[in-house]
Amino acid sequence: MRAVDIIEKKRDGNELTRDEIEFFVNGYTRGEIPDYQAAAWCMAVLLRGMTARETTDLTLAMAYSGRVLDLHDVAPFVVDKHSSGGVGDKVSLVVAPIVAASGLPVGKMSGRGLSFSGGTLDKLESIRGYRAGLSEDEFRAQLKRIGIVLCGQSVDLAPADGKLYALRDVTGTVPSLPLIAGSIMSKKIAGGADAIVLDVKTGSGAFMKTEAEARDLATIMVDIGKLLKRRMVALISDMNQPLGRMVGNALEVREAIDTLHGHGPADFTEHCLTIAAHMLRLGSKATSVDEGRRLAESLVRDGHAWQKFVALVQAQGGDVSQVEQPDRLPRASIVRDVPSPRSGYVARADALEIGLTAVMLGAGRAKKGDPIDHAVGIEVRVKVGDRAEPGAPLFTIHANDEGKRIEAEQRLLNAVSFSESPVEPLPLFYGTIE
Ligand code: URA
Repeated sequence: MRAVDIIEKKRDGNELTRDEIEFFVNGYTRGEIPDYQAAAWCMAVLLRGMTARETTDLTLAMAYSGRVLDLHDVAPFVVDKHSSGGVGDKVSLVVAPIVAASGLPVGKMSGRGLSFSGGTLDKLESIRGYRAGLSEDEFRAQLKRIGIVLCGQSVDLAPADGKLYALRDVTGTVPSLPLIAGSIMSKKIAGGADAIVLDVKTGSGAFMKTEAEARDLATIMVDIGKLLKRRMVALISDMNQPLGRMVGNALEVREAIDTLHGHGPADFTEHCLTIAAHMLRLGSKATSVDEGRRLAESLVRDGHAWQKFVALVQAQGGDVSQVEQPDRLPRASIVRDVPSPRSGYVARADALEIGLTAVMLGAGRAKKGDPIDHAVGIEVRVKVGDRAEPGAPLFTIHANDEGKRIEAEQRLLNAVSFSESPVEPLPLFYGTIE
């Protein structure tokens, strides 16, 4: 088999066989197929799509590109969650400790920032010393000892996703349903979770722009999970405006810390409690989503979720003093408000433009391997439906470069639209797929 023939076959809109998909995924993982051919193949997949059968074969090839964990010797039942990517999405930082605090082990492989969307690992690495790259032995030992792991895909686990993820980020090949499904579900399968809650975003700041696309992505991922005997739920959630207030790595860690202390923004808190409730139900810690929600609330209230977060940071080598005193997290040198130019009801606070502006400030990568600036980002001071008054802050920019701050201000003013008449707040969720 030759990589170029497989690229051409997909370019011409034909269906690939399982052998061809495995050949390509394994060849790329081993370094036998170069980045330029893998990039061309990803673009062909993005433009031509894949059938459900091809998507399943792609997911399995990616999952089995490394070890697939069986964690039952260290934990009887492991739950996990994954988001399809969005702006201000720091949900894992809150939900994983809540669920782990209930006694249900959470072993999670997360990703880095992708295009305009932030990544849990980049956020966690705002904490000095935090090690995202764990070996399989370390993963197991930590899960057994403290019941929570938040790490990245390693050489051992879903290595195909590790390589493809970084390549897609810089080749315009992120928003492809089969590539996203393969990326997410390969990590989930390799990570050994028994139950998985998927948070599938839709809207301007999501890779799936329409609710119908998000439902298609959710459905195929739920089907793949079920095929492999995992308990699955997918929630379709809004990503037309950023989730919570903070966008940017250290800023989001601060917001997650506030939320674990019970002082998070209302939308973000509600989102986290809902995801946690589904995880607790799938893991049989609650008999219904409502009961799961009450349990999640009590784990925040009594401080157990916060203690679990501290234990996680400590176990993975992070500087605990920075999370206990969040002012010690990286801070930008320039912090400036963007005042509203007029009065009116906020009709749009565009998640995509806000996410891209955060990347421009340095919170994300322009090309593979670029360093990121953990301190920079944007505080979003208004939500759709809020009333704005002239001069009141719409945003606060955290920058380390005055030229970039000025550019960010212009872009952010274009990210907001106003209406004379009242505007309904956006829903948090659009539905559930079981
Ligand atoms: N999250 C992932 O892990 N992969 C994607 O492709 C998108 C979101």
